[in-house]
Amino acid sequence: MIPFLDLKKINKPYETAFQEKLKSVLDNGWYILGKEVETFEKAFAEYCQSKFCIGVGNGFDALVLIFKGYIELGKLKKGDEVIVPANTYIASILAILQADLVPVLVEPRLETYNINPELIPEKITPKTKAILAVHLYGQLAEMNKINELAEKHSLIVVEDAAQSHGVEKNLKSKIYNLKSAIAYSFYPGKNLGCLGDGGAITTNDEALAKVLFSLRNYGSEKKYHNEFVGVNSRLDELQAGFLNLKLPNLDSDNEKRRAIAERYLKEIKNHKIVLPFWDFSNNHVFHLFVIRTENREKLQEYLTQNNIQTVIHYPIPPHKQKAFSQWNNLSFPITEKIHKEALSLPISPVLTESEVDYIIEILNQY
Ligand SMILES: *Cc1c(COP(=O)(O)O)cnc(C)c1O
Repeated sequence: MIPFLDLKKINKPYETAFQEKLKSVLDNGWYILGKEVETFEKAFAEYCQSKFCIGVGNGFDALVLIFKGYIELGKLKKGDEVIVPANTYIASILAILQADLVPVLVEPRLETYNINPELIPEKITPKTKAILAVHLYGQLAEMNKINELAEKHSLIVVEDAAQSHGVEKNLKSKIYNLKSAIAYSFYPGKNLGCLGDGGAITTNDEALAKVLFSLRNYGSEKKYHNEFVGVNSRLDELQAGFLNLKLPNLDSDNEKRRAIAERYLKEIKNHKIVLPFWDFSNNHVFHLFVIRTENREKLQEYLTQNNIQTVIHYPIPPHKQKAFSQWNNLSFPITEKIHKEALSLPISPVLTESEVDYIIEILNQY
């Protein structure tokens, strides 16, 4: 069986280094907010060409804390509307709600699966105060257009980069929004993953960074002096230590993902299968390679029979979830079509050339 994502194989090369790191953290005797977290924050900020990095407990908290940070700074307030893609992992939307803000869903482009900026203006009301852009499946959202809209309507831009570590690296000069904040997840299956939960926020906004360093730690910068109503959401020393070992390989891992995606795009030839759009630039880190097909169950079953494991990202759109019964009657046809037809093929830095050969061959025979 070719597994969808072989996490064991991904982490195996680090085994000895992880063990040494564990011993070093253990011997150090300091397990929360110590030198591993500090080192990682510095390294990841540099990697992202960002002034500040704040390590937090997970990707969801990274998003929530950005919004709470802007609320503390008086730039957002309870009940403000936030534009968010209808086609996203539900965490993006839940984070907005968790911060007492109101998500306003916008349809994606069918080709890129990312939010369609042309549909944003009609959703802007006097209450709209922010846009949450999601770089879904690892592909950069149309940030030039999103930033232009934000500028025009004085909106804050927040980015959900939980699936897109490294995507903006080479593009920063063109699209950089000085005041934005970006949320990352280090959940094990992400392009940069630790061995548990982990997350981070990057920003160039010094005032925001200052609030965030405090908010993640009970709203206190100086021990037992609480300036904000904060939470406990800290990246822990051990996970930061593991991330310090993996970060140097992120670019080459992303390069391997792109090389596989390039082969899939050039060599899969089957009219029953719609391939994802990619312009072969560095605007994609292929966290997922998502194809579409009309009879998804049949294709998935066929692949399973041929020992290829696939996963659906995602089977039910957020607005059709039981948790959001107030939205169940809304209609987002493009989002619904994607959720009905999407199927993710195996893609990862440890997928071998011969496995890719085999997957392509089997798909072309379907
Ligand atoms: C994984 C993910 C998150 C949440 O990250 P966690 O670390 O699991 O909390 C948020 N948004 C998107 C798009 C994700 O894929």
